[in-house]
Amino acid sequence: MMNQLLKTALLAVALVGTTSHSLLAQEEFDDEESKKVVPIDKRYQTEVNALVKLPAVQAAFKRFAELEPQTKKTLITLTEIPAPPFKEEARAKAYAAMLKEAGADSVWIDEVNNVLAKKKGRSGQKTVVVEAHLDTVFPAGTDVTVKQKGDTLYAPGIGDDTRGLTAVMTVLAGMKHANIQTDADVLFIGAVGEEGLGDLRGVKHLFRPGGPKIDSYIAVDGLGISNITHRSLGSHRYRITFKGPGGHSYGAFGIANPHGALGKAIYYFTVDADKFTRQGIKTTYNVGVIGGGTSVNAIPFESRMEVDMRSESPERLKTIDAMLQAAVQRALKEENAMKRRGPDLTVEVKLVGDRPSGRTEATTPLVQRAMAVTKYLQAEPKLSASSTNANTPIANGVPAITIGSGGTGGGAHSLNEWWLNDKGVLGMERILLLLLTEAGVAR
Ligand SMILES: [Zn+2]
Repeated sequence: MMNQLLKTALLAVALVGTTSHSLLAQEEFDDEESKKVVPIDKRYQTEVNALVKLPAVQAAFKRFAELEPQTKKTLITLTEIPAPPFKEEARAKAYAAMLKEAGADSVWIDEVNNVLAKKKGRSGQKTVVVEAHLDTVFPAGTDVTVKQKGDTLYAPGIGDDTRGLTAVMTVLAGMKHANIQTDADVLFIGAVGEEGLGDLRGVKHLFRPGGPKIDSYIAVDGLGISNITHRSLGSHRYRITFKGPGGHSYGAFGIANPHGALGKAIYYFTVDADKFTRQGIKTTYNVGVIGGGTSVNAIPFESRMEVDMRSESPERLKTIDAMLQAAVQRALKEENAMKRRGPDLTVEVKLVGDRPSGRTEATTPLVQRAMAVTKYLQAEPKLSASSTNANTPIANGVPAITIGSGGTGGGAHSLNEWWLNDKGVLGMERILLLLLTEAGVAR
């Protein structure tokens, strides 16, 4: 019982402030831009049609089907290796071994525990990345045993993004088996730190100064074969703490009260933010957590809040962020002006999340190819905005999108997460075709 309570509490903590494409995807699809019909240039459809006629590509497709039992086994094995935020090491080691086995030319684990597997291209002039993320939102101690009911697999993290890891690995295995050589180098990657306070630290590390050269980036996250996330939903998150001496409500009356400052800060911020967000590109804000104080007859020594702001527009994200900073400073000044004695309040503003906004235009080859491949597989391409690992390459000027790993599922970020192999091989076929259009097939 105690144990269950503790687990529930830990889980609640883990779920605070997580940003899931999986959770957000549906609502993000509703925006105006996602409803626009984007035409596909015929040349990309011609390119895909030529590609699927290659015997080697057909051989890889056949291999994906043959590997289905193995792919399922791998999914279960990886899901049952816990990968809480900042504790992905065990899963990284297992995944590295699997990529080696699948046929990579070289495999290594970097300083932050990202797994990188290289398949050398003929010219190697370009490098294309196919990546899925290693981490889950679930804290250490969560039961990650996979349970099967009928054909459905249940376990925390099974879809988001362990299925992605498995699909990426199977694509490599299929290419190796069919002897497909690309022109560009391909990096198959398992990245750490995609979820929540991980704050994209894995992909940010890949794009560090001096990091590997990357020309095109395909993140595999989410399910199905329709979604194409080409716009990144940026976010800023802050933990803001007002601090004062604290004291007795009667005896120390007149000293500055941090709760007073916090209340004013929320008020000034939300009045400005409300006006600002009623028009223009969708921009949101949320005061998600407030806390501090010990007793009704004690003046608190601190008062804190956590604030989340999001926008697809980097400019608008900057503007709303500036509104928050101004509101905090104004509140501090006014609360200090009201005090009758004692020291001033201070404020600590800590950035706890920073995800860049941006987009890979729908007319760029990467997005066009993803759409053409999706059409070829008889699915309807769905362009969307979300917060995923593609945010970081996009912010670095590298074309990037996030696509699903195939199959169907639900309950991402919950203990009831499930995945069902509903034509899951199409997920691998889609990844392979897109990868080959970007990397080129050496002939
Ligand atoms: Zn994910």
